[in-house]
Amino acid sequence: MKRILLVATGGTIASRPTATGLTPMITSREILEFVPETAEICQIDTRQIANIDSTNMNAAHWLDMVRTIQAEYDRYDGFVISHGTDTMAYTAAALSYLIQNSPKPIVLTGSQKSIFLRDTDARTNLINAFRYAADNRAHGVSLVFDGLVIDGTRARKMRTKSFNAFSSMDFPELGVMREGQFLQYISDPAPLGPPAFTTALDDRVFVLKLIPGMDASVFRWLRGHYDALVIESFGVGGIPCAGDEGFLTAIGDWVASGKVIVMTTQVPHEGSDMTVYQVGYQVKERYGILEAYDMTLEAIVTKLMWILGQTRDVERIRSLFYQPVQHDLIR
Ligand code: ASP
Repeated sequence: MKRILLVATGGTIASRPTATGLTPMITSREILEFVPETAEICQIDTRQIANIDSTNMNAAHWLDMVRTIQAEYDRYDGFVISHGTDTMAYTAAALSYLIQNSPKPIVLTGSQKSIFLRDTDARTNLINAFRYAADNRAHGVSLVFDGLVIDGTRARKMRTKSFNAFSSMDFPELGVMREGQFLQYISDPAPLGPPAFTTALDDRVFVLKLIPGMDASVFRWLRGHYDALVIESFGVGGIPCAGDEGFLTAIGDWVASGKVIVMTTQVPHEGSDMTVYQVGYQVKERYGILEAYDMTLEAIVTKLMWILGQTRDVERIRSLFYQPVQHDLIR
């Protein structure tokens, strides 16, 4: 029987009602007691590394997860991380960069309703996560939710309340869990390992969502506080420039100071292509900024944190950013 480590971090799945709203307090061992049928799937140990609403999740928690998995990697065949849904897609993307080429599966799951409720989705999601983690075909970082198995770099929370909360963005699901079986859609050869663990991150990455008529002076403050800026622009990607050079000057200053700018789009599907319109073309040509193409925002942000944790060399940043990891970038 496979040995799987449940790493519990909190979230709705572990929450109970209090006078001030749902609060994570159910422990990893108690969680397991709600799913006794998992004993037939695999042998499970548990580790509680936090019990927080995932709104409070940050880079330090991601590194804790990495260290826990690294320390226990040889003792287990796979890992299931129970997590709040709100930032689960960020954690899935972060772990995809921080633990690369893992022949063993690292599976995130959670639920929209607490595990003690009769009508919860937690039990199904957990059981599916353990089934997938115990499957010989599973490897790398993924998210299992409402029957979908989603690549860790492609997940996005799309619904705040419904059970089908997550989608795989612009990339097929790795497979689905149906009647207790994993039906595989994407089969990549499992890496031979050993996995590459990274325990350094630079979380000074800012996301600026443009709105029509935005004042470019905001860049000045941001430059003093952040190392990388992700601009969520309109459509396939451009920078406002008509009659006001403010944005172009700000971008020039940012790049000249050796900091990174990545252009992405606020349109949910199909990604950027800055070469289409003059408003994108000229800024890409002039300043050599990076563009995200079809990467999710969660992947862009965490990939930048991972890259900037290793290097400040502009060419190395560019090459790591465009080097695909776990299907994050399909151009
Ligand atoms: N606020 C919760 C969290 O992200 C939501 C959930 O888990 O569904 O921790």
